[in-house]
Amino acid sequence: MQFYCESLTEYKRLKTKEVKIGDLLLGNFHPIRIQTMTTTDTMDTIATVEQSIRCIEAGSELVRITAPSKREAENLLNIKNELKRRGYTTPLVADIHFTPNAAEIAARIVEKVRVNPGNYVDKKKFEQLEYSDAEYAEEIERIRERFTPLIKICKEYGTAMRIGTNHGSLSDRIMSRYGDTPMGMVESAMEFLRIARNESYHNIVLSMKASNPQVMVQAYRLLVKTMDEEFKECYPLHLGVTEAGDGEDGRIKSAIGIGTLMEDGLGDTIRVSLTEDPEFEIPVCKDLVKRYENSQKVRKSESQKADISNNKVSSGLPDLPSFNFPYSPFEYKRRETFAIDNIGGKHVPVVIADLSKIEKITPEDLQSIGYIYDELTDKWNIGDAAADYIFIVNQELDFALPGTLKVAVFYKDWINASDKTKYFPILDTDQYLDNTIQKSPALNFVMVDCYSEGYPVPPLETFFNRVRDDKTAVISLSSTNKNAMQSIRRMYVELERNKINNPAIILCDSSHATMDENLIHYSVEAGALLLDGFCDGISFGHHFMNKNIPTDFRLMNSIAFGILQATRTRISKTEYISCPSCGRTLFDLQETTARIRSVTNHLKGVKIAIMGCIVNGPGEMADADFGYVGSGPGKITLYKGKDVIKRNVNSDIAVDELINLLKENDAWVEPAAVTQF
Ligand code: SF4
Repeated sequence: MQFYCESLTEYKRLKTKEVKIGDLLLGNFHPIRIQTMTTTDTMDTIATVEQSIRCIEAGSELVRITAPSKREAENLLNIKNELKRRGYTTPLVADIHFTPNAAEIAARIVEKVRVNPGNYVDKKKFEQLEYSDAEYAEEIERIRERFTPLIKICKEYGTAMRIGTNHGSLSDRIMSRYGDTPMGMVESAMEFLRIARNESYHNIVLSMKASNPQVMVQAYRLLVKTMDEEFKECYPLHLGVTEAGDGEDGRIKSAIGIGTLMEDGLGDTIRVSLTEDPEFEIPVCKDLVKRYENSQKVRKSESQKADISNNKVSSGLPDLPSFNFPYSPFEYKRRETFAIDNIGGKHVPVVIADLSKIEKITPEDLQSIGYIYDELTDKWNIGDAAADYIFIVNQELDFALPGTLKVAVFYKDWINASDKTKYFPILDTDQYLDNTIQKSPALNFVMVDCYSEGYPVPPLETFFNRVRDDKTAVISLSSTNKNAMQSIRRMYVELERNKINNPAIILCDSSHATMDENLIHYSVEAGALLLDGFCDGISFGHHFMNKNIPTDFRLMNSIAFGILQATRTRISKTEYISCPSCGRTLFDLQETTARIRSVTNHLKGVKIAIMGCIVNGPGEMADADFGYVGSGPGKITLYKGKDVIKRNVNSDIAVDELINLLKENDAWVEPAAVTQF
């Protein structure tokens, strides 16, 4: 194992223990299972059954249903029976928070129970308590006493279990010793896992969810490392980003978190949590899973199990030795670079819009990438999500560009460009190493292919020696490998090892037919590299493709800025942390989220949580600046950080009260004006 996965340079699935959930097998190289959760009231049997069926028909292989108390846990039997009567035997999962007695009922009825180790035994008090070693051990003993009966029931009934840690609901005990950290999340699950192992109960899946993909990715990686070190074996992983929100942002956040780990070969089941009807989560799951379909065949016999190549897509790259590794996959640290113009150094990652397939670019084309020309003032209005560079071919623009926008062109176009303060050349490594050709004195994009099959590996040593002190060279990395992310990551490691501090950007191409697939593709490939601290810029499109693929440039630009926002590397808009809703939800979450979004979506950098219930909402809203939480029928409680500011506000005035709260805390600006140049 390399730190936390089988390979850092190729897709190679992690071997995990096999878990049986009803008739469904999970882990141990079985296909990555897709699941979701109902949003209906669990006491409404027919509504829950019908929603479950919609999810199953869409492709959900497991359906989770909340069981907040004994009543709902008991009603799971009616739901299960009605599903069976209608011909559906898909395994059901009971979702438990705070109520061991509900878990003990549910474990006798459904195929799997999910417990949250942050609140199964502990009541969160938001107190920073000090624990001596003896007190800590006493607490663990208390958990053992309360948790063991559930384990015994699960063993007796053949019920599986997920120990599902959430970043936002760590116990005071864990917080006191580890803080609000990925390590705290891991330890929270490990306390429960050790108790289960002591009882020889192994039908367990684990999760480490957070709304921040960075925290979530680090926690899962640390969990694998910890299990491997302590047990020499790993339990299957359920991957998910909590409170991801809705629409494009929710999909991007989920794809970055889940996809980064899947690229590492981790993950046995996934759930994409969207603030939408649960069946809409399934196509996103499918798009994620199909990236690895050829690499994850079910093995039916022991001899097949020995054939590790079924789970491996060779990149032709040697594995990286684990010693003297130049970055940590467990904590975020941006790769140190010097700045060239606005790329690298302390600058946020730039966005280079690929407009190369537009034959004749007009000012209107720039609207899709954040620039609006105002004829009246003869000025450009520049939005917060405006691309920094455009990549074009075979043309020089015949209109004045906005002041902040620059152009990247292939060398043959650059040499003829009249304004070399705005146009910068893209060179291949041969051109770059050729001393006889003219270069830009300010900025040259130097393309480096990262080990693509069929391409010669560039003469790296010569290239590194030349580029190291060149304060004009921005390294532009790409790969056509199936393992493009891993191949580019491999090159980043080489840059670090060879002490190359030039800024480096990535060029990421996609040949997918739909924008949904493109969104997943770019989020996974670029998101994974950004979370590892690489990337001083991103460019998505069809740079190296001859075919003309229809492109929605506005959406491509929005995806690029969405990925930077979700990885928290460049903030250009408001961030929404909204729960997917469930049977506990006290208001129409989708409609309310849309209403809040419509009045606050100009508040760049402000994080607003919209949570369905007061039981889990405050804990799960993570690092939101403000919270809008359902606290009773028709009642909303407003938070600033973790503090209650306005309790039980009538829901018809709650959005106005939220705006007042933003104003009182200087987080409000009038929706207005964009910068003009
Ligand atoms: S926060 Fe939302 S998803 Fe979580 S339990 Fe409450 S209503 Fe359900």
